[in-house]
Amino acid sequence: MEPFRGVFTQQEAIPEQAVDAAIEVLRSGRLHRYNTLGEELGAASELEQVFARYQGAKYCLACASGGYAMSIALRAAGVRPGDAVLTNSFTLAPVPGAIAAVGAKPVFVEVTEDLVLDLADLETKISESGAKMLLLSSMRGHLCDMEALTGLLEAKNVILLEDCAHTMGASWSGRLSGSFGLAGCFSTQTYKHLNSGEGGLLTSDDSQFMARAIMLSGSYMLYERHGAAPPAEVFKTIRLETPNMSGRMDNLRAAILLPQLTALDDSIRRWNERYHLIAERLSNVPNVRMPHRPDEEAYVGSSIQFRIPGISKTQAIRFVADNKALGVELKWFGDENPVAFTSNHHSWQYVDPQDLPKTDEVLSGLFDMRIPLSFTLDDCEHIARILSHTAYQNMGSGAT
Ligand SMILES: *Cc1c(COP(=O)(O)O)cnc(C)c1O
Repeated sequence: MEPFRGVFTQQEAIPEQAVDAAIEVLRSGRLHRYNTLGEELGAASELEQVFARYQGAKYCLACASGGYAMSIALRAAGVRPGDAVLTNSFTLAPVPGAIAAVGAKPVFVEVTEDLVLDLADLETKISESGAKMLLLSSMRGHLCDMEALTGLLEAKNVILLEDCAHTMGASWSGRLSGSFGLAGCFSTQTYKHLNSGEGGLLTSDDSQFMARAIMLSGSYMLYERHGAAPPAEVFKTIRLETPNMSGRMDNLRAAILLPQLTALDDSIRRWNERYHLIAERLSNVPNVRMPHRPDEEAYVGSSIQFRIPGISKTQAIRFVADNKALGVELKWFGDENPVAFTSNHHSWQYVDPQDLPKTDEVLSGLFDMRIPLSFTLDDCEHIARILSHTAYQNMGSGAT
């Protein structure tokens, strides 16, 4: 088997148009978002307008990171220190981190074999914890049944905040991820769907919520210069009651993001071409289980997940090593030792330990691979051949 030589962390270059826009901002010297001349809008404000339009949201705030967007969203939504906040047991570290940032306590909800929130367990945990807030993480781009979820949350009076780090551009029954709850939180960190190195976007239709979020982000008394903000009168008391927790986006990053946003739908098409090719090949390997993706879900295949049920620890370690030797970089979520970007609840020891047998079972046989757009379709064929080959050699009990 010929080894694969591509680099799994290599994203595409920033488009020339974005490079030109960045140079223009650099030449102007006006990098701070409120450093504008006369009627000039500034790139950060323009990005807010364009992204609000893309999401079909009334308001948008550009800020420092996805994790920051989540933490100010929690605070602006009224979470207080000591409150319980429900979230997915399978997610990335910045999600429980954002809950910890406001002094609240994550309550983990089990995930299903299809990697989405387990709604039956959610109902139980709502009753047990009395939590009034769910920070839903559509981890690795998997959307749960959003209609069933919002129905349940409404009945139980629980507020929904959406972590859309992997679902920017994805939708459920034609409705965009991030538009189901009080707010949508997005990341423009290098490994997400738009790349400004670091960055976050927060959207909402709620004027009070957004006014608080804008003040929190560090707008001083310059909130009227925002691109997609509520009218000035909404800030009347909020502006004096809300602390400044500096985490603004600057014009340089916003300038890089604007042309990428125009190209997002085309990027999604290219991600899905690559995803479908690999998923199709893997679904023919007898011991591999692909998560079921319902017809209502329009996802963005920027990464791929699959399970080998019953695979032992030794086999899983060997499977990852065999792939690595052939140039294919897999992440195994069942690893006891936290590596790189941690996503196993056992690694977050600042949170009270919680029993999540179903999640642990799923994670023990769960593998993940990034699909950067720098890979061609031929590259994806090559990767799929390697994965199929190594999976055959490392059969879990599901293969018998
Ligand atoms: C990346 C990520 C975030 C936020 O990331 P930042 O690095 O803070 O921008 C949030 N949730 C998930 C699931 C992520 O993968």
